[in-house]
Amino acid sequence: MLSQIKDIAVALAPRLIEIRRHLHSHPELSGQEYQTAAYVSGVLSSCGLRVQELVGKTGVVAELAGSGEDLRLLAVRTDMDALPIQERTGLDFASHQPGIMHACGHDVHTTVGLGTAMILSQLSEKLPGTIRFLFQPAEETAQGARWMIRDNVMDKVNAVLGVHVFPTIPGGSVGIRYGALTAAADDLEIVITGESGHGARPHEAIDAIWIASQVITTLQQAISRTHNPLRPVVLTIGQIQGGRAPNVIADQVRLLGTVRSLHPETSAALPNWIDSIVASICQPYGAKYSLNYRRGVPSVQNDPALTQIVESAAEEAWGCDRVEILLEPSLGAEDFSLYLEHAPGTMFRLGVAFPDQPNYPLHHPQFHVNENAIITGVVTMAYSAYKYWFHR
Ligand SMILES: [Zn+2]
Ligand SMILES: [Zn+2]
Repeated sequence: MLSQIKDIAVALAPRLIEIRRHLHSHPELSGQEYQTAAYVSGVLSSCGLRVQELVGKTGVVAELAGSGEDLRLLAVRTDMDALPIQERTGLDFASHQPGIMHACGHDVHTTVGLGTAMILSQLSEKLPGTIRFLFQPAEETAQGARWMIRDNVMDKVNAVLGVHVFPTIPGGSVGIRYGALTAAADDLEIVITGESGHGARPHEAIDAIWIASQVITTLQQAISRTHNPLRPVVLTIGQIQGGRAPNVIADQVRLLGTVRSLHPETSAALPNWIDSIVASICQPYGAKYSLNYRRGVPSVQNDPALTQIVESAAEEAWGCDRVEILLEPSLGAEDFSLYLEHAPGTMFRLGVAFPDQPNYPLHHPQFHVNENAIITGVVTMAYSAYKYWFHR
């Protein structure tokens, strides 16, 4: 089966590059992936798959029925949205949309999803069960997975596979991570309310700026003293608003931030912990506060058995030299984790680095991918999906 998958992938390579470049030059923002969805749907229909559009707003779902009698259902999820970034790669297939760019590799992910469907639709007589392809919108805004799940795409799904490109892994290599792959990412808003007054008479006012500065400092210090350093938490206050004039004591300050953590228990405890710190600082000075802790996405926790399937698929396909076991997770976030609340799954990293030119991080206006990675991604995904049926 592996050699058949590889042969078809090699034959399809020029078409896959063409698909990826088309997607790259026609990026669409989160929740507006109408042209992308139509294009994806066209490719899937031409492979004979049953396609449903407008699932999860602008998502596409397609099913490939195998010919066996295994009732398990495997989902393959890829994301389709681009970012509000002005591309500066200088590529001849660079974005045609001013201010919008595929700077997170979702054009490659979509191509991997399509390539997997193209290959496995030619080998469906060898598939024991059904594969459901999920082409998700709005990953960058952490909305798309919720929309898709609300439209029941995870019904009856037994396992889910995903992929994300990674610019620090060589192009054509695969990164495998057991356990936590990405962090939980939550949004934090703290509003501290004091009392305004003359800048010369602080004892008659409640200085919200001074209290906010203590809140920020104490949160950072207390994290290091109260959380297990082997279970990381990152709290970043990225925005602060308050005050009206240099000589007027501010009556209100608003702090906005992001909170990242890897362990579900840590993540669960954070809102109360932050609340207790803020309360303990405001209370002695008579300030009031409100805390709005909004859950974003949970941490992606890769399932060990499914991760092992992808690892062995990649090793058989490319040899151990091109499979990297990742020792560290990322504190980035990925809404793939929301599917994992419905079925176990795993996401692998697809190396897209060039050996001989500068590589840029994800979300950078010069981010570019080594297109060797496309065949690697497609074969790894297709073969992992096939191997899924033979594991119990
Ligand atoms: Zn991104
Ligand atoms: Zn991404």
